[in-house]
Amino acid sequence: MTLTIGPLSAEPGRKTRGTVPVDLGPTTVDIPLVLVNGSRPGPRVVLTGGIHGGEFVGTDAAARLGGLLEPDDVTGQVVICPVANPPAVYDGRLGKSPLDGVNINRVFPGDKDGEPTERLAAWLFENVINGADAYADLHSGGIDETLLDFVGYRLASNEKLDAKTRAMAHAVGYERVLIGRNAQGGNSHAAAARQGIPAILIETGQLGGREPSQTRTLLDGLYRLLHHLGVVDAPQHVAPVTVQPREWVWTGSVVSPATGLWYPDATTGDEVTEGQSIGRVIDPADGSEHKVTATATGQILYGMNGLTVVLGAELAAIAQPHD
Ligand SMILES: [Zn+2]
Repeated sequence: MTLTIGPLSAEPGRKTRGTVPVDLGPTTVDIPLVLVNGSRPGPRVVLTGGIHGGEFVGTDAAARLGGLLEPDDVTGQVVICPVANPPAVYDGRLGKSPLDGVNINRVFPGDKDGEPTERLAAWLFENVINGADAYADLHSGGIDETLLDFVGYRLASNEKLDAKTRAMAHAVGYERVLIGRNAQGGNSHAAAARQGIPAILIETGQLGGREPSQTRTLLDGLYRLLHHLGVVDAPQHVAPVTVQPREWVWTGSVVSPATGLWYPDATTGDEVTEGQSIGRVIDPADGSEHKVTATATGQILYGMNGLTVVLGAELAAIAQPHD
């Protein structure tokens, strides 16, 4: 079956690379896509990177995979979008789009008549994500965030779907698998789950890092995922899993009580106890201090490294093993 997205198409046994112009109202963006239509029919797998700017490992790995995968290696179809949100990726290297200040990963499945970022989400959801048999969205800690690598997925109150998604999350081969209790919210993988698509989030890398070893590890994980889905069969390309994935749940999120300067006492990787002080936010004008305490017990999986924070900014996300 021909694989078509906008003006791009790939016949079975062909690979097509190019960009698709998407009209966002005040501006048009070019979305880069690699369509690999396998020599044999099978599932369609969609990968997105660059939903957020400043998260380089996922974009790097997606672009490299797009270069490496050839139709003869593929059973089914692989759609790779290494830069899903060009304004945020290229202009600000931030989570929010410079076009309208919107975090696209809060507004999926988008609104085609909405603000520019909502329109982009709607285009991506309708044209790239929808129709996937499996979907993986690649993220990192932002340029001001520390992060321990993990794979995330949402429970969708559908036993069959949840089992498929869980198996995908484990197949990637990262040590931590984070379960979200429901599929609510505007994250692309949550919106996909609500649509019945097995969808995972992979978070790897931090602080604007772009270490080749992390990209290599992520590429290994993506090959394991494609192998698990029956899309890539050459086992010589698939590195064995070296860690036993373990399921975790989020226990709390800590947000800044004020706009000011953040001085953490506990950082990513630290074990904290509910109520424990984890730092303070100082008002640079009068020197007044807001204490910040852990809202839950567990390990900080990602945290704010930036000195300057706005009221409500996420300072730490806390999780615990599920068992
Ligand atoms: Zn992200």
